[in-house]
Amino acid sequence: MAQAVVPAMQCQVGAVRARPAAAAAAAGGRVWGVRRTGRGTSGFRVMAVSTETTGVVTRMEQLLNMDTTPFTDKIIAEYIWVGGTGIDLRSKSRTISKPVEDPSELPKWNYDGSSTGQAPGEDSEVILYPQAIFKDPFRGGNNILVMCDTYTPAGEPIPTNKRNRAAQVFSDPKVVSQVPWFGIEQEYTLLQRDVNWPLGWPVGGYPGPQGPYYCAVGSDKSFGRDISDAHYKACLYAGINISGTNGEVMPGQWEYQVGPSVGIEAGDHIWISRYILERITEQAGVVLTLDPKPIQGDWNGAGCHTNYSTKSMREDGGFEVIKKAILNLSLRHDLHISAYGEGNERRLTGLHETASIDNFSWGVANRGCSIRVGRDTEAKGKGYLEDRRPASNMDPYVVTALLAETTILWEPTLEAEVLAAKKLALKFLENHAAFHSPVNILVEHHT
Ligand code: ADP
Ligand code: MN
Ligand code: MN
Ligand code: MN
Repeated sequence: MAQAVVPAMQCQVGAVRARPAAAAAAAGGRVWGVRRTGRGTSGFRVMAVSTETTGVVTRMEQLLNMDTTPFTDKIIAEYIWVGGTGIDLRSKSRTISKPVEDPSELPKWNYDGSSTGQAPGEDSEVILYPQAIFKDPFRGGNNILVMCDTYTPAGEPIPTNKRNRAAQVFSDPKVVSQVPWFGIEQEYTLLQRDVNWPLGWPVGGYPGPQGPYYCAVGSDKSFGRDISDAHYKACLYAGINISGTNGEVMPGQWEYQVGPSVGIEAGDHIWISRYILERITEQAGVVLTLDPKPIQGDWNGAGCHTNYSTKSMREDGGFEVIKKAILNLSLRHDLHISAYGEGNERRLTGLHETASIDNFSWGVANRGCSIRVGRDTEAKGKGYLEDRRPASNMDPYVVTALLAETTILWEPTLEAEVLAAKKLALKFLENHAAFHSPVNILVEHHT
């Protein structure tokens, strides 16, 4: 069985080997879940601090944990934004003169967009607009994390600013009156840093087949719980609407859920929760990947199931509204797939609890469908639907806004219905073509 190579989360405390945690705490360092580096696990690097000299680390730790509030009103704001790939996160810090409660109290800021693939070198300035604030679990005190979106100096949203469009959808009076809720299940995979191979997997080899790992306990089945748990608490502290977490089917893979959150908040909370996860894995020396199919073969991919409901779906008679929403979703399947994450075709194969990327399907309690409706929703005649198609690397602003648009704002056009019918007919013929070559010729004439 695979040897666990899970590094202990040390949270900026490196050289505690020589002294037990209690002694370190007594010596003045506020110790935050210290664990000694276990035998057989490689101690990972903790920022730039030398782990050789206990004294150095303790003093550094005191500075990192220092509560500055008795000495200054000033706080540190970490401005966070989505970078040029549409999935990378960037951030930088600035001093704000006093604690703030609302993003409107914060100044706009800028950065060099030519260094993030978001602007040409000769006109490189991109402007950051603060949009949502969270408590900073790393710096503590009144310090904050700030979710920003990105604009040209003339005030136009830049192409990678997906929040702006989502905010428009979520401020449409029709959408507002439907109070759209989203519960997002973010799956992710942890990799050993230097080999880019999942945490807990033997380097150059594979663990035993899937089965024992989902929601598992035990050092031969659960890899990276420290990271999942540190992230859970950090998110609660920050004010993220995190609703749970679980170990996943593929070893080294985890999930957490955020929601139900209303409208644009779902996107803000997912992005900040991803930022916190990147920071924690950075400290742990573990690599976070949101690739939808990190390991080819008989291993589960990573998704971002999006549970969704409107006010009318949650009220009596809601199941009928859900069915109408599913009809709309079926007619726009291709559009949704194109917006649900890069590389999703490697994940949506029809195996491993997914539906094929080419076919739209829905069902009650069926995890092999594009859309699943829970037993509870069917029984009560109201509730929510689960869109199982989004990949782990999807942009939550894009996915949530498109769900609201397709189910609240968009009405099926005759054209869309004809197109969908045509697609179905072609698929039918293609299926038959495998068995009857004359039909095959017919299909070729028609395509
Ligand atoms: P699964 O059974 O698919 O693993 P999870 O328990 O992981 O589901 O996630 C379900 C998510 O759906 C949670 O985030 C939960 O908050 C959210 N949720 C529950 N009710 C609703 C609702 N009415 N509308 C939208 N989301 C909801
Ligand atoms: Mn889940
Ligand atoms: Mn899952
Ligand atoms: Mn799910």
